[in-house]
Amino acid sequence: MRNLLAEPNERFFFKDRESRFLLVSAGFLAALAQGRPLEKVIGKTDFDIFSTPHALAALEDEQRVIATGRAMVAKVERETFHDRADVWVSTTKLPLLDEHKKIIGTWGVSRDITAQIEAEQALVHQALHDSVTGLANRVALMDRLAQALLDLERRSGRVGLLFIDLDGFKDINDSLGHDAGDRVLVEVGRRLTDVARRGDTVARLGGDEFVLICAHPSDDDGLRLIADRVARAIRAPLMTDGRDLAVTGSLGVVVTDDPHVGPGELLRRADIAMYAAKRAGRNRFQVFDAEIDLGAESTAGLAAELVRAIEGSELFVLYQPLFRLDDGSLSGAEALVRWRHPQRGVVLPAEFIPLAEERGLIERIDLFVLDEACRQLAAWGSEDDPWDDFMISVNISGRNLIDPGLADRVSAVLERHGIMPSRLCLEITETALIAELGDANQVVESLAALGVHLALDDFGTGYSTLAHLQQLRTDILKVDRSFVAEIGGRSRDREIIAAVIAMAHALGMTVVGEGIETDGQLDKLAALDCDEGQGDMLAPPATPADVAALRSTARATHARLTHARSTTTARARAGRRGARAGRALRP
Ligand code: C2E
Ligand code: MG
Ligand code: MG
Repeated sequence: MRNLLAEPNERFFFKDRESRFLLVSAGFLAALAQGRPLEKVIGKTDFDIFSTPHALAALEDEQRVIATGRAMVAKVERETFHDRADVWVSTTKLPLLDEHKKIIGTWGVSRDITAQIEAEQALVHQALHDSVTGLANRVALMDRLAQALLDLERRSGRVGLLFIDLDGFKDINDSLGHDAGDRVLVEVGRRLTDVARRGDTVARLGGDEFVLICAHPSDDDGLRLIADRVARAIRAPLMTDGRDLAVTGSLGVVVTDDPHVGPGELLRRADIAMYAAKRAGRNRFQVFDAEIDLGAESTAGLAAELVRAIEGSELFVLYQPLFRLDDGSLSGAEALVRWRHPQRGVVLPAEFIPLAEERGLIERIDLFVLDEACRQLAAWGSEDDPWDDFMISVNISGRNLIDPGLADRVSAVLERHGIMPSRLCLEITETALIAELGDANQVVESLAALGVHLALDDFGTGYSTLAHLQQLRTDILKVDRSFVAEIGGRSRDREIIAAVIAMAHALGMTVVGEGIETDGQLDKLAALDCDEGQGDMLAPPATPADVAALRSTARATHARLTHARSTTTARARAGRRGARAGRALRP
């Protein structure tokens, strides 16, 4: 016992029935008595060492041990002082007996376990929080959600859930790097926390997915209001690395008053509603309902089938001919993908391209179409009519423009089929080109360096202005069919189109009118000096054999053109084309 009392690390104490110290170990003196000698501690109480609340609690414990004769074993408690930082201790107290087994006080040991407790707390925090944003993580979210649903059992009410997925976050990560991506996540988490009210939970599920549990939404309208506020908070200007990022989110909203739905099911519904918001164009919220649920099932099915379609041979390509508007000759064709679905019949790209982009399948589709179109281009023509002047256009999704290997892949396909780069045109939508997210521009540069033509597709549907045109590497401008449809309308619309065409010409670009459906549209485009056109009225998307047949009769369309061209404008246009060829081939 004497050895144990001399041990500098063990905190032993013996107290009388009034909790006055009878004896303490060297370790006790060192840790708690601040160097006071033993004589100065004997006779004192906890009130002389600890804070009053702690001394009171200890006194109570000791009185109980004395009254019951039972030990208190390994009580974890926080020791608090007047004058020092708190510590965590594990304390054991036993009755102190004399030789007649009469209780004359207490004795025991307390051990400092602060380091251990802090490590445990850190582990718990880590287990329940997301390391990037410090928000609750999935485990904590599921726990709180279960708790909120349990509360519904006790008193009626509702629980709302917002599932938030950032739009295009992968692009931010890919182009600006993960540190910038993390900063965006932290900022979004902060904004969500700002919108949340007391009792709400903000969690990050992982990736760019966040969840907000609204513990007590007033009603559906109240929840919509919150969803709207969240969407607006996310799209507020966000600066990182000195860049203005356009961050938006798609939200799925679900509300329930049923305590038995289960947290997993509630999360699933919110997720499905979120996907519906994505499909509806992103940067919005969608409230879950049964219809969306059914839609999600068929979309999930469609996605699985699409993988099969790509791997099997259900995709095929049709070619929509392009004509010169001055002489009606066939100048090329745009490759348009189709899906021959075993049950649904032929599915149009509008139904599966967005899905393919969402599920990361678009690269394989675009490369399939590119390969198939180049193979077909090589197959068309013969020794005496090699179709050298015929150009094939292939659509490239903006998603693929962040792939730095794209130019190499395109080059390999051209080589495989022995196609001159100048006979291939890649169509890129303006939204993809104008995205601030830098890397796309480098990919476009490397494509231009290959010597392929680049077309700005669907011009007029996005954000580009005429001023943008000069900065782009595209040498062909495809005026969207919504623009073409307006051409017969108000004179102001016609003036705008005239200005677009003139500006594009001044920049050495070829202008193509898309979706020409009427004679009137064709005539007006021709009158405005539009170079080429495509549309159902000229020729709908066709099989390779039909395109071949058209080539021989194409000049017949010339008869449809009511505007004869003077030789001077024709010569001017020929000059422009020469300039363009030089531009496209420039490395
Ligand atoms: P786009 O590149 O603007 O292609 C033109 C679309 O307009 C085609 O629709 C074509 O059939 C349609 N069209 C042509 N003439 C007319 C007309 O007179 N009236 C009307 N109303 N429509 C006309 P499609 O084939 O359904 O393709 C739709 C879009 O899907 C394409 O628009 C393109 O953005 C995308 N797409 C098609 N194939 C591919 C592909 O292989 N890869 C990628 N990434 N996207 C593709
Ligand atoms: Mg196109
Ligand atoms: Mg288009």
